[in-house]
Amino acid sequence: MKRLFLILGLAFLPSNLLFSQIILKEPLSPRLTGYSIDARLDDESKTVEGVMDAFWVNNSTAAVPDLHMHLYMNAFKSSRTTFNKGYGGRIRASEAGWIDIIEFYGGAGNDLMPFIQYFSPDDGNPYDSTVIRIVLPEPVKPGDTAFVRIKFKTKMPSNIRRTGYTKDFYFIAQWFPKFGVYETTGMRYALTDGWNCHQFHANSEFYSNHSAYDVTITLPEKYVVGSGGLLLSEKRNDDGSKTMLFRAEDIVDFAWTAWPGYSVHKDKWKHVDITLLLPSDRLEQVNRQFAAVKYALEYLTENVGPYPWPHLTFIDPPATGSGAGGMEYTTLFTTISSYRMPEWVRLPEMVTIHEFGHAYFMGILASNEFEEPWLDEGVNSFWEARIVDHYYGKNSAMIDHRLLKIPDAALSRLVYTTSPLKQLVSNDEYSWNYPRGSYSMMSYNKAATWLFTLMGITGEETMNGIFREYYNRWAFKHPSGKDFIDVVNDVVVRIHGNKFGPDMNWFFDQTLYGTGICDYKVSSISNRIITESGMGGIAADTAVTKESAEDEKLIRATACIERVGEVMLPVEILIGFDDGEEITEYWDGKERYTEYEYTGDRKIAWVKIDPEYRIRMDVNFINNSMTTDPDRGPVRRITGKLMLFVQLFISMISI
Ligand SMILES: [Zn+2]
Repeated sequence: MKRLFLILGLAFLPSNLLFSQIILKEPLSPRLTGYSIDARLDDESKTVEGVMDAFWVNNSTAAVPDLHMHLYMNAFKSSRTTFNKGYGGRIRASEAGWIDIIEFYGGAGNDLMPFIQYFSPDDGNPYDSTVIRIVLPEPVKPGDTAFVRIKFKTKMPSNIRRTGYTKDFYFIAQWFPKFGVYETTGMRYALTDGWNCHQFHANSEFYSNHSAYDVTITLPEKYVVGSGGLLLSEKRNDDGSKTMLFRAEDIVDFAWTAWPGYSVHKDKWKHVDITLLLPSDRLEQVNRQFAAVKYALEYLTENVGPYPWPHLTFIDPPATGSGAGGMEYTTLFTTISSYRMPEWVRLPEMVTIHEFGHAYFMGILASNEFEEPWLDEGVNSFWEARIVDHYYGKNSAMIDHRLLKIPDAALSRLVYTTSPLKQLVSNDEYSWNYPRGSYSMMSYNKAATWLFTLMGITGEETMNGIFREYYNRWAFKHPSGKDFIDVVNDVVVRIHGNKFGPDMNWFFDQTLYGTGICDYKVSSISNRIITESGMGGIAADTAVTKESAEDEKLIRATACIERVGEVMLPVEILIGFDDGEEITEYWDGKERYTEYEYTGDRKIAWVKIDPEYRIRMDVNFINNSMTTDPDRGPVRRITGKLMLFVQLFISMISI
């Protein structure tokens, strides 16, 4: 039966599912899944009808009795879906979107419609229909390929939440049935073989095999189309429509957009042809956008690994479609901007660099965003801030106004350090388990902040070495957080030997898996005059500012440093004396406090913990320094005021 299934399957299989290489010389991934979709956009009914031929390869050592697939457009079916509960909105009937399966055949041409079961593996929500299981009449044997032909009709939702339409603007994502990932034992955290196919959630949407896609789109001629694929052909039809064929290779999702108002711009970076689609009233943004994406290509290529595709399309959606902005689909992404965005606000550059960065962490590495959002969003936010600050100015990359200058990394850190929710849960939660709106602060900002801290401790070149190794070892293989940590441990020990211990697990136990905060504080400085009697007696404490002109007397100068938070990280302490000399001390931070004592003829003038801001996790930099000079006092008050202003500003632009 198995052989029959396979032979009939192949007979049934359209030749265009046998993907030959068109874009890349060699496949980048094992391509355990592949899709060929013939789709038609109906402008009147706001629907996309498609016929999809797809396959899934059983690369496990056991027979698999079923297939699991996503039907993510059903997230927009009603207000009771799991997506909408997480999103906290209301989907009116007029805004709803969904996907209907009209026909579902197996490779042998057998009708599988009666075998479709809707189920909700994450929360059991009976009103959610974003995942189906198809129990096959015959299991798929090890090494065999299951072919399916699915006829579907997708109604696009209005009021765009990443995907949908407004008037004649379409952003079409999560629109076709897509396989889950069959994880074999030992892959990521899998203890047994099984499908990993999560429901569609408000905060996460990606975990898929890398696939080849042939997507044929027929739509009215007036539309300008952008997609994650390479346009192979375009022909005009007699009925006023046109048919475009796109090919994509080794990407995890295929999305596309259509709007008559797009202005199309082209540029090139090395081997990459870059296309930018944006509204024609934003032409002054074109150079900014191309510069930003090329910076990201350059920096990530240099420090992580090559961008393997020769094409890249990005979209700046019009105001009517702004809900589609700021999203990643590997070889396609969307940015955010607006008419006359002032140049000193680098929001468009930041979003472009961020969303492009996902081509690496969601696209090439393709970790499981549902289960480990930090491994995608946090890692990507870390690189975004590095790139933005590198190219646009270490002190003024995000906001570059004569009255206010803020770099990207500092902004991200502030979101974390000023959040009242920062100790609510660890950074190792499934995306939908972050309570009370803490998902984005934890997944993006906390994670980026401890990654900066890891770089502060181990050094920039070590951090680049970690990511180069992570890319080399795990590109197109779906790593877990544990796999990332293994790479960190290997690279840090290779470069630094035992300097930080046999591994870096102590770091991740506290930052990723722990809920503690890091806060170091200078608790006191004292400069005491020791009597000349030689009896070791100590004279009355001289106030820190009190002058002592008695040269012959010894001074015992002491700096007390306290660890206020639970997180123990090694830290540098810079101590300045009244004769101008500076001493750097190193503290492992393991005790609750430490003291540095110097006996001689000079006083400690000031103390600064972590003078180079390596420990970005430290939630309070203000208590990191203390001075005996009373004139320095007001500086702190101004800093406090500035912090408040920055917080206000963040709450206004929070994205
Ligand atoms: Zn992101």
